[in-house]
Amino acid sequence: MNNKEFQIVVLAKQVPDTHNVGKDAMKDDGTINRAALPAIFNPDDLKALEMALSCKDALKDIMPVKVTIITMGPSRAAEIVRESMFRGADNGFVVSDKRFAGSDTLATSYALSAAVKKLGKVDIVFSGRQAIDGDTAQVGPQVAEKLEIPQITYAEELISMTENEIVIKRRLDRGVETVKSAFPVLVTVHSNANDCRPRHAKRVIMYKNASTESEGLQPIAKNQKPTIKIEEWNADDINPDFERLGLSGSPTKVKSIENVVLTSKENKKINNSESEINELMKELISAHII
Ligand SMILES: Cc1cc2nc3c(=O)[nH]c(=O)nc-3n(C[C@H](O)[C@H](O)[C@H](O)COP(=O)(O)OP(=O)(O)OC[C@H]3O[C@@H](n4cnc5c(N)ncnc54)[C@H](O)[C@@H]3O)c2cc1C
Repeated sequence: MNNKEFQIVVLAKQVPDTHNVGKDAMKDDGTINRAALPAIFNPDDLKALEMALSCKDALKDIMPVKVTIITMGPSRAAEIVRESMFRGADNGFVVSDKRFAGSDTLATSYALSAAVKKLGKVDIVFSGRQAIDGDTAQVGPQVAEKLEIPQITYAEELISMTENEIVIKRRLDRGVETVKSAFPVLVTVHSNANDCRPRHAKRVIMYKNASTESEGLQPIAKNQKPTIKIEEWNADDINPDFERLGLSGSPTKVKSIENVVLTSKENKKINNSESEINELMKELISAHII
């Protein structure tokens, strides 16, 4: 990486579309039937991409800025890199290897942080707050810990961006907080943040054939520009401690998985009066329902 460029990395995950779940979405053993669900760009990560591109917009007249995507998953996760390029990212890497199989959040964040380190100087790492499949919201903060950089979580709005500091409004349980940080910093982006800008037609034409070697680079026709290569990194490429990858690096043990179907056992009708609503609230609180 060029040390004079401002380097922004976005961690983006390809996830099964758990918002459109059909009856065959879960296997008999309770695990996700990934084949039955379309793979999509994790929604919070698109918001993270938008915040990264907004930072680039803010700095682009002052210094060169590069936005790089890192995605860890099967080789088809290259779709995430292409989609990001269509919307404004400069390049991206697919981190993919069978040796990552069985990774819990600790091993995932270890592999991702090793990939970020491989890039050299990085000024901001953006991630989504949460992935819609695993849903833990642990990976962003864990990557910051492993990179030993500060973190701003639950970022909702980019207030300002200069070459020296970023100012962010972050969402709290009861209100918002405005914080600033010097670089490097990791920012996890909340679903309330701005939607990502749409694909740019010229960029779609430019990057539609961008592919990894395992997808098979498109043949180059006469007078056509060479196909843009999306780099794939395997476990060896990120120079890891192999004990910390995949199953051996994953202390989480799943004891059992249950398919829980929520059904109502009883119902109660109340009148729209303050006293009856108060009474209901007391009942729900004392039964630890809310
Ligand atoms: C015991 C165990 C075994 C598992 N085995 C597998 C397995 O074999 N294969 C598998 O796919 N999953 C596996 N998982 C799930 C996997 O650990 C999680 O999907 C992964 O750690 C991310 O956690 P999350 O989905 O909760 O992400 P969150 O912490 O909710 O994600 C927050 C943000 O981190 C970033 N991020 C998270 N994951 C990635 C990624 N892969 N690439 C880029 N950015 C990312 C994104 O920006 C995301 O918005 C396993 C989990 C457990 C507990």
